[in-house]
Amino acid sequence: MENYNKVEKDEDGNKLYFLNGELHRTDGPAIEYANGTKTWWTNDKLHRTDGPAIECANGNKLYFLNGAEFTEEEFLEQTQVVIRPKVQEDFSRWNSKCHCGAPAYDSGFSVECSKGCK
Ligand SMILES: [Zn+2]
Repeated sequence: MENYNKVEKDEDGNKLYFLNGELHRTDGPAIEYANGTKTWWTNDKLHRTDGPAIECANGNKLYFLNGAEFTEEEFLEQTQVVIRPKVQEDFSRWNSKCHCGAPAYDSGFSVECSKGCK
């Protein structure tokens, strides 16, 4: 069992989340500053995979993974799931030969003759 986060509030009103003595929170920002800035930490490192690890109160956003800073483009490359278009089966490519001698498409289940015979 993981220890629950220890939550501390410093004298400036900043709220800090700890796990085992390290800045750590996975379900939200590990530091919530009194001025509205939020920062995400995992194991004492700035880290967030689903958005900027630093969201400044003034709207600035900075991206970090395991303590290393990335540009937004780099960050998206690292974290985005790339959805590729479905590969269409190519029926125009005759890969076999029918018993009549004409080119045919063998799907593995059946052979389709290019001249249409059965
Ligand atoms: Zn045929």
